[in-house]
Amino acid sequence: MRLRFAPSPTGALHIGGVRTALYNYLLAKKHGGTFILRIEDTDQNRYVPGAEEYIKEALNWCGLNPTEGPGIGGDHGPYRQSERKDLYKKYADQLLAEGKAYIAFDTPEDLEAMRERMKAANIFPQQYNSRSRMDMKNSLTLPKEEVDARIAAGEKYTLRLKIPADETVVIQDKIRGEVRFNTNELDDKVIMKGDGMPTYHLANIVDDHLMEITHVIRGEEWLPSTAHHVLMYRFFGWEDTMPAFAHLPLILKPNGKGKLSKRDGAKLGIPVFPLSWEDPKPEDSFKGFREFGFDPKAVINFLAFLGWNPGTEQEIFNIEELSEAFSLERIAKAGARFDFDKSKWFNQQYIIATPDEELADKIAPLLEARGYQKDKAYLTTFAGLMKERVVFLTDFPEEGYYFFESPVTFDEKTIRKRYKLENKGKFLDLVALLKGEVSFDASSLENFVKEFIEKNGLKFGEVFPIIRIAISGTTKGPSLFEMMNLLGKDEVIRRLEYALPVFEEKLVSQ
Ligand code: GLU
Repeated sequence: MRLRFAPSPTGALHIGGVRTALYNYLLAKKHGGTFILRIEDTDQNRYVPGAEEYIKEALNWCGLNPTEGPGIGGDHGPYRQSERKDLYKKYADQLLAEGKAYIAFDTPEDLEAMRERMKAANIFPQQYNSRSRMDMKNSLTLPKEEVDARIAAGEKYTLRLKIPADETVVIQDKIRGEVRFNTNELDDKVIMKGDGMPTYHLANIVDDHLMEITHVIRGEEWLPSTAHHVLMYRFFGWEDTMPAFAHLPLILKPNGKGKLSKRDGAKLGIPVFPLSWEDPKPEDSFKGFREFGFDPKAVINFLAFLGWNPGTEQEIFNIEELSEAFSLERIAKAGARFDFDKSKWFNQQYIIATPDEELADKIAPLLEARGYQKDKAYLTTFAGLMKERVVFLTDFPEEGYYFFESPVTFDEKTIRKRYKLENKGKFLDLVALLKGEVSFDASSLENFVKEFIEKNGLKFGEVFPIIRIAISGTTKGPSLFEMMNLLGKDEVIRRLEYALPVFEEKLVSQ
């Protein structure tokens, strides 16, 4: 099996494109096939510098590395269509010679006039097709001498496919099932432009054929063109080796209303691209999943489920497991809602599943950047205590800063509610006792504090939150005693001695 991902370098690769690449990759891997990258850059007007590099970097970050492609090599190269220009001409000439394509000289004004004429006559669709072509300036209507003379005079022309009238083209789509097209609704697509460059349609079919592609998995927006593609396979006599088609469902906005767009990212403050993109126009720049702090494995897992499911309860899959479980049959027809919270959930699951030691290595540079330095053992315990409470690696220094410096703010509301002035003496006693021979391992500490509370007729709810806030500033966080154990006796006592009078002031100042 040979599958290709064939993006056009017209800008950054959005997340829908990455999903297309992923599904091609998974099916290729599942069957021991080949995953190919082909750059479809025949439309010079839409070419965006840096886009090809972006695509490659994004695939690489996601771990979707092609076995054939530009800069990688392979027996079916070159893999950049702009480098295959001469090759397409031969095939265009063949269609022309066999009367399956024709030369057209029409100007934009001619085309506009044609649409107006059809509109006035109430003819739908208003396009260059079997109904209108005989009223146009082309090699079907002009005498051969005139066609030759125009070409000799250097006049620009296009080649158009001659779509037969009154036929039904039937496609067996792997996801949608049977799809039928009436050829009267298809236009005579341009296959070669005035500049001698092929259009997407010609280049795509010729390349899929020459590159021996067996399966085409692509976005739903290409379904209408597939009828033209099937006709071209027929025109070339390549029907026997025509690839199987699978058109993927749309990715919908988080609210489920309409297609997820490039602008939704900026509007909703969520990533809809794998990597950030710096654009000369600032409004076209955006932050990617990578820069949001996502683990590419989590992004892949999330994307796999955008339109596909394994039919079981299992949600966490690595890429090998995905390729084993994957099948076109389990891809949904309906659009898939892009749920950013779900992508965060996946990231969280990947962090939780990462061994503490490994996490420690990953977060060490983020902590160092903030001037926090602790040994590996400390970071490992810290990682273990915090990992259930974060979504991104960057949350570790953010949410757990108090493991590296004294808290900078205290949860005043809770202090007002829970700290009773009459307990002041008891708190001082507790601090004095903690200074003594108390073991700071978490469970001894817990027993010790609980006993103290009971002996002194206090309530858990008026002691635990106060100690916790004194140490971390907040009531949220990992186990209090694990936290005290990691911070160590001296630090805990220092923080309590600093905080308790501050709490008192806050109450007195009320
Ligand atoms: N170049 C097309 C794109 O940008 C490829 C579509 C296809 O896979 O045939 O999506």
